[in-house]
Amino acid sequence: MKEETIAINSRCQSNSINEKSVQTINPPVHFGSTILFETYEDLVLANTGQYKGLTYGTDGLPVQRAFEDALCEMERGHICRTFQSGINAIIHTLQAFTKAGDHIVICDNVYWPTSNFSNKILTRFGVEITYAPSDVGSDIEEYLKDNTVLIFLESPGSNSFEIQDIEPITEIAQKRKIVTIMDGTWATPLYHKPLSFGVDVSIQSVTKYISGHSDVLLGSVTINKKYSEAFADYYKTLEIFAPPQDCYNALKGLKTLKVRLKQHEQSALTIACWLQEHSLVDRVIHPAFADHPQHDRWLKYFSGSSGLFAFTFKNEPNQDQLALLINSLQLFGIGYSWGGFKSLITAGKYNRVNGSEFDGKTIIRLNVGLEDVEDLQNDLNNSLTLLIEK
Ligand SMILES: *Cc1c(COP(=O)(O)O)cnc(C)c1O
Repeated sequence: MKEETIAINSRCQSNSINEKSVQTINPPVHFGSTILFETYEDLVLANTGQYKGLTYGTDGLPVQRAFEDALCEMERGHICRTFQSGINAIIHTLQAFTKAGDHIVICDNVYWPTSNFSNKILTRFGVEITYAPSDVGSDIEEYLKDNTVLIFLESPGSNSFEIQDIEPITEIAQKRKIVTIMDGTWATPLYHKPLSFGVDVSIQSVTKYISGHSDVLLGSVTINKKYSEAFADYYKTLEIFAPPQDCYNALKGLKTLKVRLKQHEQSALTIACWLQEHSLVDRVIHPAFADHPQHDRWLKYFSGSSGLFAFTFKNEPNQDQLALLINSLQLFGIGYSWGGFKSLITAGKYNRVNGSEFDGKTIIRLNVGLEDVEDLQNDLNNSLTLLIEK
C-alpha cells in the first residue's frame, strides 16, 4: 500500500490497547458525518429504516445522547433533545407545535430573541400571538382563544424576574389541550423542575449555568411523555443535531453544576443584600427577597436562586453616570449572556407589552460569578462611590 492509503486506513479509534480496555471517566467524543456499517446487510437495513444503530452524524452522536440522557433524568422528563443554542431550542419548539391558523400566548417578559422570532417569523406562517402579563396566573383564560394551541412561559423573566403562577396555568391548559412551555434557564433543573408542575416542555439555555464556562452555545428541550413522540419526529425530520465538543463540555458542566450554582447563589445573595442598603439603590430585583412581587411563587416553585439579579436606582441615571459606573468596574465584564464563572454587568430599559413597574427605568443586571465575594463587593462599592462623588 502507498502512503496515502496507509494514512487513510490507519486505525482511527480504539477502545482497547494491548487487549486492555481503555476507560476514561468522561465519554469518548466521536466526530463524524459518515458512520461506517459493518456489512452490506446493515446498509440494506439502514436503507429501509430498520437499522437499530446510528446511520449518520445527524442521528445524534454518542456524547450528545449521553448529555441528553443525563439532563432528561435531572428534569424528570421522558425525552430530551439538544440544539446548537438556547434560542434554537426555543425557535424549534415554537415551530414544532404550531401551524397556520393557530393562536399562541407568550409572556411579555420572555428573552427578547424569543418574542423577536415570534413577531418577525412565526407570524409569517400564519400564527397569531397574544402577549400575556409577566405575572400571569389563573387570569391566563383572558388571553386564550378557541384556536390557542401553545402557552410560552419564562420564569423568572429576562431582566425583570417576574414569576408566573405555573400550576393554575397548566391546569387550564391541560383541560383545553394546550401545550405549555417553560424557559427555566435562570434556575436550572436543580432549582426548578417545570414538568413536575404540569408543564409539558422544559427549555434550557445550556449555554448558561449548565455549561458554566462561557465557551459553549447549546440549548435543550425536555418533554413529558404526552408530547414526546411528536417532538422526536420533528427533530428527526429536520435532522437537527448538536456539536459533539459542546455536548462534551456541557456534560462536564452538569457534573459540577450543583457546587457552582450554590456558590453563585450565596455570592449573589450577599451582594444583593448589601446593595439593598446602598444609598443610591432603589429596588433590588431578586426572587428570593421577601419584597419581590412574586416571592410566594418563588417559594412554591423553586428550591433555590441563582447568581443573576438586578437593581434600579432611586434617581434615574443619565448616560454619563451609567458609563462612569460600568466603565470603572474592574472585575465585572460588560457583556451579554450569563451563568459563567466571570462576573458580568449589563444595563438597559425593558418595556413590556402589558406595562411594568420598570417601564422607562434603567435596570442594572449582575451576573455574579465565582470570584471572591468581598472583592466583587469592593469593586461595586468603588464604582458606586464615584457616582456619589460626581
Ligand atoms: C440566553 C438565554 C436564551 C438563549 O440562549 P442561547 O444559548 O444564548 O441562544 C434563552 N432563554 C433565556 C432565558 C436566556 O437567558
